[in-house]
Amino acid sequence: MIMRGWEGNIRKVVPYTPGEQPKDKKVIKLNTNENPYPPSPDLMRAVKEWDGDGLRLYPDPSAEILVDAIARYHGVYPEQIFVGVGSDDVLAMSFLTFFNSSKPILFPDITYSFYDVWAELFRIPYERLKLSEDLSIVPSDYFKENGGVVFPNPNAPTGVDMGLDAIEEILEHVRDVVVIVDEAYVDFGTRTALPLIKKYENLLIVRTFSKSRSLAGLRIGYAMGSPVLIKYLNDVKFSFNSYTLNQPTICLGAKAMEDEEYFQETLRKIIDTREWAKEELRALGFSFADSKANFIFVKHKYCPAERLYSELREAGIYVRHFDQDRIRDHLRISIGTQEEMEILIRFLKEYLSSI
Ligand SMILES: *Cc1c(COP(=O)(O)O)cnc(C)c1O
Repeated sequence: MIMRGWEGNIRKVVPYTPGEQPKDKKVIKLNTNENPYPPSPDLMRAVKEWDGDGLRLYPDPSAEILVDAIARYHGVYPEQIFVGVGSDDVLAMSFLTFFNSSKPILFPDITYSFYDVWAELFRIPYERLKLSEDLSIVPSDYFKENGGVVFPNPNAPTGVDMGLDAIEEILEHVRDVVVIVDEAYVDFGTRTALPLIKKYENLLIVRTFSKSRSLAGLRIGYAMGSPVLIKYLNDVKFSFNSYTLNQPTICLGAKAMEDEEYFQETLRKIIDTREWAKEELRALGFSFADSKANFIFVKHKYCPAERLYSELREAGIYVRHFDQDRIRDHLRISIGTQEEMEILIRFLKEYLSSI
């Protein structure tokens, strides 16, 4: 390929590939871990009643009402909350702010595939540490010298979670750099590491409204940590873009934190459906690590993942396949509504018995 002279001086990066968003509404969408249930009726009402008069003004750059609502919900100080445009924005800002060492940052070899993209983008050296055979994170691997640590808990796309003891073990060994725990799926049944932020000033917890709160379309993510950590994060954010969250998002996000009852009910439904789906999938010859997230990472005993992926797609059921070493034989299936999962299971039953 011929490269023009100026192209040699460009910051080049291989971008992250998001899951597909089909235009066809009839598709059963189990490919991006969104919530199959709508936002709460209260939130829907607030959307309808939104008054656009204020839009000629810039939004509040500190997103105070949203920050306050999140702080109140978690029982921490507003100075311990940082908000961004989805947790992807929060994580990107965190990589830029905290991973500034010449030593490699550490994360699992099988994990959220955006981590290595940000590391490449920001020229952060990194090392991927191999998950064990049963797809769990081995805490002692993270004790060595490093420039920072990041992992999701539960991990994605495996769904496997880690106890607080194991996280604290890592924190005990990693004192001079920042440790980021990405809790995108924590609400689906994993214990949060939030209590540890009092004890470890270098611990940052990252959350999102996209999965458990049914608001992927709004784009809200946040981080919690010691006030000093959050201050550094805000210094970088305000050196980059002051107005990240827009007015409606700030307002609706604050409102969404009030719907605890609806939130818990939705979580309960998804967890129940997940446990039901595990039984059904096992009976059909699938194996998987025990998922604590809103997806199951499955492997079939004889049917290749890629073939199942295409067959499902043909039938209007979208799941996610990663063409990557060690996980090429797996599919990640998001938990939909009970009805959607019943359609999936019925299709698999018929298809697998026909081959
Ligand atoms: C979905 C996901 C995110 C990003 O979520 P947004 O808030 O929608 O940007 C971050 N981390 C993990 C592990 C995820 O699965």
